[in-house]
Amino acid sequence: MPVKPIALVSTPWPLYSRPSVQLATLKSFLQQEHPGLVVDAHHFYLSAAAALGYRTYHDISERTWSAESIYAAMLYPDRAADIQKLFQRSLPASSELHRVDFARLVEPIKAVSDRFIESVDWNRYGLLGFSICLCQLTSTLYFIGRIKTMAPSLPVVVGGSFLAAETIPKLLEAFPQIEFAVHGEGELPLSRLVEQIRHVADPAAVGSVSGVVSRFAMAGSCPPTRSQLDDLALLPPPDFSDYFRLLDTFAPENRFFPTVGVEMSRGCWWHKSAANRPGSGCAFCNLNLQWEGYRFKRPDQVFREIEDLTRQHQTLSVAFMDNLMPLKAAETVFEKLAGSEKDYRLFCEIRAGTSRTLLEKMKHAGVVELQIGIEALSTGLLKKLNKGTTAMDNLQIMKHCEELGLVNSSNLILGFPGSSGQDVEETLRNLAYAAIFRPMRAVDFWLGLGSPVWRYPKHYSVHSAANHPNWSILLPAAVAKQVPLMIQTYRGDRTIQKKRWRPVKKELAEWKKTYAALRRHPQASPILSYRDGKDFLIIRQRRLGDDPMNHRLAGTSRKIYLFCSHPRSLVEILETFPSVGADQVRSFLAMMVDKKLMFSEDQRFLSLAIPARPRGAGS
Ligand code: SF4
Repeated sequence: MPVKPIALVSTPWPLYSRPSVQLATLKSFLQQEHPGLVVDAHHFYLSAAAALGYRTYHDISERTWSAESIYAAMLYPDRAADIQKLFQRSLPASSELHRVDFARLVEPIKAVSDRFIESVDWNRYGLLGFSICLCQLTSTLYFIGRIKTMAPSLPVVVGGSFLAAETIPKLLEAFPQIEFAVHGEGELPLSRLVEQIRHVADPAAVGSVSGVVSRFAMAGSCPPTRSQLDDLALLPPPDFSDYFRLLDTFAPENRFFPTVGVEMSRGCWWHKSAANRPGSGCAFCNLNLQWEGYRFKRPDQVFREIEDLTRQHQTLSVAFMDNLMPLKAAETVFEKLAGSEKDYRLFCEIRAGTSRTLLEKMKHAGVVELQIGIEALSTGLLKKLNKGTTAMDNLQIMKHCEELGLVNSSNLILGFPGSSGQDVEETLRNLAYAAIFRPMRAVDFWLGLGSPVWRYPKHYSVHSAANHPNWSILLPAAVAKQVPLMIQTYRGDRTIQKKRWRPVKKELAEWKKTYAALRRHPQASPILSYRDGKDFLIIRQRRLGDDPMNHRLAGTSRKIYLFCSHPRSLVEILETFPSVGADQVRSFLAMMVDKKLMFSEDQRFLSLAIPARPRGAGS
């Protein structure tokens, strides 16, 4: 039987400046496994972004509810008025989108979507696949509905991180246009599905495929099975060519230099190592529903991929897509990248416990921006979050980033269920020490389907988890009620938490303003810095609306301050400086902490000032 091509589609709202790594990896894997098979990867969201304007697209895509609203209004025009209200509600007060008529946003997206859908001969394909990640539900449903009117017999398969095991059977029940859903990692299941589909005329005749739930055999496939690669070395490099070809068709003013995504690993080693706790991994996290265990590529493979992809596509921006990098392998990869002497611009996500040595290697290699899993500044709360870190770890990594000139974009979770007044007080206290570093972003806790809080609600005093009410504005009542969806609501202490965390929210806003004002000038020195005179030290503490304060530390005081550049216990300090009386050391440390020049926690001390003249990492 002649092999029909396969179409893979990614609909709005992923980051427009990055090709879909999901589509690109599936495409190259399918072509490796099925020589001669044509796979068209349609990174359609890029066309949508260009049609809408990149800035507007970005602003809409930043929030789930604003993003999901646009296609929901196309799918269900009868509920457009309510959807519009939700769209407006979900935007920050400062958003320019408040000034734009909602219909004026929907119109160009609908036009470009319909134009694209009508321009493709869908009947030439043997299978149509969609990758559904966060914010892509309604857009995918719109595409499926429209394409099925043009090609009713084209079988549709969906997969992606949005599809938890609980979601799949109900989604297939609610949307009969979808024939198959992949549970977990896509490569092997999709490849086997392709193999089967080419031998049958009717998708109902497809036999059981591990990792695929078929709407024709739902009874036998609950709970859905998974099937994933044992070794990521089997993955060929992602094929981004369709995205770059599309970009090349754009008018010059709409072209840009994209960031290519590279996977070093799949899964999360912290999630794995915390497996004996109630719900392994961080309590709020549902990023690892797709994977079983933790796998990573060898450094050579990653390095080669980066070298080849950036050369092929003539770009130097690379984003590591890992939920959590393999530390040892990452060290080698960054060393190799630094050794290549190319001016890479790299982005990655890391844990707060990442060592200074690795951060320096990242900096050398070209890491500019990091997302660090800080999440809280209270050790009590970090325990509840099961982060495995302390407030001191967090302050330490913030300090390293400030010193190395790494942009640290991290979140502070507000309103986590079960946070106590004490957790909030501790946060407020520690914010006063963190305020000299780059500010964090306030993020209200949301309950993710499949997260430990969702799986073990009693442990977190959460009751009656259900789909978030906004889904019933976006989708028909029956769907919103029956299909378990990624963003959930719950009964518990939400109102109390909202009130409890209000002062923190206020402090975070102040922090942002003060930091921006003090560091506005590109030449502005760090807010808290020191200059070393070798037998004395001058610490400069900049203040908003006031002259800087200078502190001089001489002799042993200087030595103790520098010794505490890394967290040190009181015992260590006393042992290292035996000639100074314990009381004298204690009172010196207390004074340093009181002046916000040092941070202390649990009899451990960390000096907060960073060198005025950057050292190390060639910064
Ligand atoms: S938040 Fe990060 S470190 Fe924590 S479980 Fe999720 S992926 Fe792992």
